[in-house]
Amino acid sequence: MKYKAYSLNNYLSIPQVARLTESQKKAIEVVGNVLPFKVNNYVIDELIDWNDVDNCPIFKLTFPHKGMLLQEHYQLMESAIDLSVDKEEIKSIANEIRLQLNPHPAGQQEYNVPEIDGQKLYGLQHKYRETVLFFPSSGQTCHSYCTFCFRWPQFVGMDELKFAMKETELLVKYLEQHQEVTDLLFTGGDPMIMGYKVFRKYLEPFLSDNNKTNIQTIRIGTKVLGYWPYKFVTDSDAEDFLALFKEITDRGINLAFMAHFSHPKELDTPVVKTAIQKLRATGVQIRTQSPVLRHINDKPEIWAEMWRKQVNLNCIPYYFFVERDTGAQPYFALPLVDTWNIFRKAYQMVSGVCRTVRGPSMSCTPGKVQILGVSEVNNEQVFVLRFIQGRNPDWVARPFFAKFDEQAIWMNELKPAFSNRFFFEEEEEVIYGEKYSDSEVHNFE
Ligand SMILES: *Cc1c(COP(=O)(O)O)cnc(C)c1O
Ligand code: SF4
Repeated sequence: MKYKAYSLNNYLSIPQVARLTESQKKAIEVVGNVLPFKVNNYVIDELIDWNDVDNCPIFKLTFPHKGMLLQEHYQLMESAIDLSVDKEEIKSIANEIRLQLNPHPAGQQEYNVPEIDGQKLYGLQHKYRETVLFFPSSGQTCHSYCTFCFRWPQFVGMDELKFAMKETELLVKYLEQHQEVTDLLFTGGDPMIMGYKVFRKYLEPFLSDNNKTNIQTIRIGTKVLGYWPYKFVTDSDAEDFLALFKEITDRGINLAFMAHFSHPKELDTPVVKTAIQKLRATGVQIRTQSPVLRHINDKPEIWAEMWRKQVNLNCIPYYFFVERDTGAQPYFALPLVDTWNIFRKAYQMVSGVCRTVRGPSMSCTPGKVQILGVSEVNNEQVFVLRFIQGRNPDWVARPFFAKFDEQAIWMNELKPAFSNRFFFEEEEEVIYGEKYSDSEVHNFE
């Protein structure tokens, strides 16, 4: 199967788009000028239900629609387009709107970038002791874009390649000096957008007998199985990739696909099943993750079905995320209490082999905060929370409490219960040092 991608420039040439209404097409134009839009022939021909796009989760996952922008932002862009203002003007209006969409959540730019000999390594993030995130420069795009994506600023030219790294040399040097790091996580974008030759270059240091790092698990954060499973079935370098994966696992390295699936429909096509089988045959482990999203997967039945299907295909459910505080969050986010109820009900519907999943998890500045549930202490309703991951490892797995709030959709809206501050906030001051300012940290931005 030959890959063909569409964006704002050529989406009108997708045959099925002729079936959309004028207002649906208008929304694609308006929103697509602010947030990234890209979709490919697999998603169009095999995943989307064109007879009922209004209820198709994959259409909602890939095609921009009106509610994704606040009304005032939508109108601003709509009238610019209606007045046919020039490209530069559209761009500057788009940037003005984008800056109001919290393009850099969870302190990614300020706090997570490590250094080597005083030099900042912008292609790396090292937040949790054991795991380094690596953004290879050739992996900073995806086979299609998700409408809810939290990495969206990279795709609209706001971050350029600031977060990306060309060479592995500095990465390897950093990992050699940090023996506490056992896990290297390739991320993007989607690293599986790379061709074999380029990808292999990044892996080679870990396959060499001179490898002095302590990397035991290599993870690849990817949506290739959801958006382009042909990668491992009919692409010209499919067999090369599979051989490389086998070479890695044969060396005793745990190779894990952190595969992003948002809906059970993504697991139903013959080609995704074949791709998963081929990967599994090389010794690759597939762990799955997605945020819970209004309009797309906001029912417990959907999650129970998805986890069950994943386990049947020998994948391991891993993370259930809360939609992050950026981009089109107001459109996709649910109140935390609803998110927890969806998780709880789905978890109750499946057997223990599906309950490897962890969540609901919020990726905030201090760490990944899990919502254990709603409870009552001393006649007061509270959220019970804990860290799954913490900037300080000692914070992990200690339950703590926040005042119950029916409307809260993110950590920054929660207030501590039974005290003035959350237990970790004092230490955060020390960690962030001079960058600390009360509002910044308390807002988890
Ligand atoms: C989630 C995450 C990781 C990985 O955490 P695990 O619990 O080991 O899966 C690593 N770094 C960052 C910045 C993360 O957000
Ligand atoms: S695959 Fe991941 S990085 Fe790419 S658009 Fe979707 S959420 Fe964003």
